[in-house]
Amino acid sequence: MNVHDSERMSGLLEEAGLVPVKEGLADVVVFNTCAVRENADNKLYGHLGLLAPEKERRPDLQIAVGGCLAQKDQAAIAERAPWVDVVFGTHNVGSLPVLLERARHNRRAQVEILESLDVFPSTLPTKRESTHSGWVSISVGCNNTCTFCIVPSLRGKERDRRPGEILAEIEALVAEGVVEVTLLGQNVNSYGVEFGDRLAFGRLLRACGEIPGLERVRFTSPHPAAFTDDVIAAMAETPNVMPQLHMPLQSGSDRVLKAMRRSYRSARFLGILERVRERIPEAAITTDIIVGFPGETEEDFEETLRVVEASRFSSAFTFQYSKRPGTPAAELPDQLPKAVVQERYERLVALQDRISREENEAQVGRTVELLITADTGRKSAETGRLAGRAPDQRLVHVRVPEGCEAPRPGDMVTAPITEAAGFHLLSDPRPEDYRLRRTRAGDAWDRAQAESCGVPVTPGTPRQDGAGRAVSLGMPALPPRGSASA
Ligand code: SF4
Repeated sequence: MNVHDSERMSGLLEEAGLVPVKEGLADVVVFNTCAVRENADNKLYGHLGLLAPEKERRPDLQIAVGGCLAQKDQAAIAERAPWVDVVFGTHNVGSLPVLLERARHNRRAQVEILESLDVFPSTLPTKRESTHSGWVSISVGCNNTCTFCIVPSLRGKERDRRPGEILAEIEALVAEGVVEVTLLGQNVNSYGVEFGDRLAFGRLLRACGEIPGLERVRFTSPHPAAFTDDVIAAMAETPNVMPQLHMPLQSGSDRVLKAMRRSYRSARFLGILERVRERIPEAAITTDIIVGFPGETEEDFEETLRVVEASRFSSAFTFQYSKRPGTPAAELPDQLPKAVVQERYERLVALQDRISREENEAQVGRTVELLITADTGRKSAETGRLAGRAPDQRLVHVRVPEGCEAPRPGDMVTAPITEAAGFHLLSDPRPEDYRLRRTRAGDAWDRAQAESCGVPVTPGTPRQDGAGRAVSLGMPALPPRGSASA
């Protein structure tokens, strides 16, 4: 969600006439912070400290801080780092250009934090990072109260976007060449609660299946308590909904789940996975797990190991519990010693690594269609392989056989999996086993490349993205700048 917020900030600034800086010094620096991450405040103040001498040298440099930490600390940020020009919260991302302009005009720091959403963020201009894949917000905020989580206090109650608006945004993305969308929400399957439709998420998935040209639909994150069979049916019956599910477990112990205020229990969790695999046998299921929640005993932890063994996750995001100030769990007694948490964490990681490798080995011999991504990986120059994502979102490094045409990012390659590693798969196809499908997303990549070199695709055609257009911010106009970064 934060990545998509950053895309919005970039889009807003570009629409205001700024351009991203690739090298050298920026005139505007924006920090989009995440309070969920450990030590987020130390990291932020560390980065701000590094910028202080630069600000002294160049007083026109503007520094803005947004995101969850800004929502939490508000004016304290400008007090602790008085060289910051703008502090804005999670509910008013759209105000960023105006606040920068106001800070410049008034020569005073601007702090603006709203307690609830003013404009649904997806209506804001967005600078998409990818030409083939796009994030689409369906809701923001969360009505749950997990005791370890800071999100409800920073993002507020769940607000749902109307299905028509969501589908219109997806259609617009597809018209630009996007072939894959990921629907985003803190708790996607409670989508519809605000407008009284319990089945809205399943209906939304089915409606995505009707959009011509949309090849892949994903979503994140669902919540085990609210995950219903109509969603499983919609996933199984809608061909462009991909066989992939991220289902956060957090703990396998019912006692710990209760202390976390997660209202499902391990039996329900395993039941969901069973029903998903009955309908979608090839589904890859991933999860989030927290080790060392306050009061977690060795028996509780062994319950987590049991559920992990039974769940056969393709991969897992594993976290060591650490206090987040402002959350109820931070006040609980029985915070565990670091050494205990570390030892359990290592056991969990070893177990999941084994399962991930076994599940990856089971993929060898399958032929899959890969969406080639722009991120070809560090070793690609040596290995000559490109990175692609299988329908189940597994990362596959594929080699283009000699004499065969290479794909562009956004094109599709069909090839067999020839080898498994712990965290990725390899595909070294023979020429006769390699098939390339050029897509609209690949064409969009070509156009974006041409535009980034300043070469219009069709000479004389104005740019579609509005770059260089003057934008009225209701304030003295912000002139196009030499450089900026967001
Ligand atoms: S459901 Fe997710 S976002 Fe909501 S409170 Fe729990 S962990 Fe946080």
